[in-house]
Amino acid sequence: MDRKTVLVSGGAGYIGSHVTVELNEAGYEVIIADNFSNCDKTNYNGVCAICGKQFPLIEMDFCDLNAVRKLFSENKIDAVIHFAAFKAVGESVAEPLKYYTNNLNSFLNILQVSKEKGCNVLFSSSATVYGEPDSLPVNEKSERKPCTSPYGNSKQICEDFLRDCVNAYPQIKGIALRYFNPIGAHPSALIGELPRGVPQNLVPYITQTAIGKRECLSIFGNDYPTEDGTCLRDYIDIVDLAKVHVCAVSRMLKGEMKQPYEIFNVGTGRPLSVLELVTTFEKVNGLKLNYKIAPRRDGDVCAVWCDPSLAEKELGWKASRSIEDTLRSAWQWERRLAGK
Ligand code: UDP
Repeated sequence: MDRKTVLVSGGAGYIGSHVTVELNEAGYEVIIADNFSNCDKTNYNGVCAICGKQFPLIEMDFCDLNAVRKLFSENKIDAVIHFAAFKAVGESVAEPLKYYTNNLNSFLNILQVSKEKGCNVLFSSSATVYGEPDSLPVNEKSERKPCTSPYGNSKQICEDFLRDCVNAYPQIKGIALRYFNPIGAHPSALIGELPRGVPQNLVPYITQTAIGKRECLSIFGNDYPTEDGTCLRDYIDIVDLAKVHVCAVSRMLKGEMKQPYEIFNVGTGRPLSVLELVTTFEKVNGLKLNYKIAPRRDGDVCAVWCDPSLAEKELGWKASRSIEDTLRSAWQWERRLAGK
């Protein structure tokens, strides 16, 4: 059988590595491209160990149009999944040019070459495009709100780039997946999230506190208008999230899209508070976490979770791993990193 080839830009990162494993399992050839600006080879090596094979690894920067053209000329690429982007919200506020230059140019180059070659494009977007929603849960028709960070803005702009290119160039089809809060690690504990420096996200901060790398978790605000006063989010397991990419790629390659540009929310549809998540982490892993209540963090929305029914109806995908298993996997990964 002629196996289809998927290019995964940023394939050595947290989401890209999990997606590579699922694509391989589903029978796709995968080419990983990464410039290792925000990760080392740990996840790449983990992916090869899980799958029992070496994946082609191209070290390159997607801001280099000639390099992107060369990659597409030397390989027959049926679809590209684009993860290669900077993702730290706070840093993007301090260094907007760094974020706009990298996140926009790399995607423009992918679109340019996809237009030249006729390639399907899957863009990794984010729930951040919904901002503070007027009503919950959000569905794909909910309004996008002006973003408070250049990171969030770059996601909105890239969605628009994709929509406009798909509308103008019939040889490109596009899907944007809007992730809610991806957490956890592969059950093998061979791949997972590897934050550089102090983690900005909740779960890596929790696991690093539990292992003793951080002294105390700060819970940002307990005076929100929610049941326990802490923020509500839709935490989606990383393996579940990886699987939806396989469904989306297959939909594009089999010509099953209903429109040339489609958007899907990727979440569980179940809101969880920060305190509930912390308590569940403690319970399933049999430990006590050192935490304190701290002031609200600038830019945080009170609550956001999604209606995931469109992805279920159109892609046949639904989150299935329990929050307990996800939080166990996050802890196993942290322990493995620490050699414990
Ligand atoms: N959060 C927290 N302490 C931390 C990191 C995050 O209390 O050290 C909270 C944050 O205020 C938010 C939730 O955890 O309510 C999820 O934050 P994260 O940064 O993981 O994702 P976001 O929803 O901001 O994209």
